[in-house]
Amino acid sequence: MKIYVSVDMEGISGVMLPEQLKKGGLLYEEARKLLTAEVNAVIEGLIEAGVDDIYVKDAHGTGYNFIASELHHQARYCMGATNISRRFPGLDSSFDGAMLIGYHTMGGTEGAIRDHTMTSVGWQSIQINGRPIGEIGIDSLLFGLHNVPILLVTGDKKTCAEAIEEIPNVCTYETKEGYGRHAALIKPPKLVHKEIKELIKESINNRENVLPVKLEGPYEVVIKFLSTDQVDHRYFDGTRSIRINGLTAAYSSDDFIEVLSLAL
Ligand SMILES: [Zn+2]
Repeated sequence: MKIYVSVDMEGISGVMLPEQLKKGGLLYEEARKLLTAEVNAVIEGLIEAGVDDIYVKDAHGTGYNFIASELHHQARYCMGATNISRRFPGLDSSFDGAMLIGYHTMGGTEGAIRDHTMTSVGWQSIQINGRPIGEIGIDSLLFGLHNVPILLVTGDKKTCAEAIEEIPNVCTYETKEGYGRHAALIKPPKLVHKEIKELIKESINNRENVLPVKLEGPYEVVIKFLSTDQVDHRYFDGTRSIRINGLTAAYSSDDFIEVLSLAL
């Protein structure tokens, strides 16, 4: 069995502060250790569940957050910068399922650690075809283009709730409960590692009940920014890309990857 694992950082156990999430931050190196240990627990869980081909994408910020020397030896890892048109390098329809590990909610969610969509500063919200969407939704659709279902989503309590809205019957695992954007009741990483392995088995057994996420085109992406100068810096052709008002831009295409490439 072949599984694609996309790993963000905001939803990892023990992570809740900006200083943990940015290269050069005072607590970043410690947070990388928490991240790498949780990734290793996921790999161990997948191997115990009988998965023999594991592809892992470091999907936070620069894409260089895993501590390479400490990574489990029985998986392949994609690290480094990628753009939205190649957000998941190596992804094709040969994968049996995908997992979104350490994810976070869409921007504007109350009581959620580092809630945001694609950029932690600058954007208020993104809508696709009239519906607010976050990274769980966007990434589910990108996997859905290759008919790959999302089997497991992990992150804080609100992230798990968003995942169930986006992906019917998906398994979720709560690593913490947000008390605000930068405070949480956390589960100790050692407990998380143990429980996540059990959930992985369950999510693999549950895979017949989860369908790939699909959305019919044409697509319209509307982004609401925080400040007008962010929109001033963008190019608009008046057809596929339009400035609706001071803070809002709209992008359209029949192709999902193209509309994301135009907008993001
Ligand atoms: Zn992130």
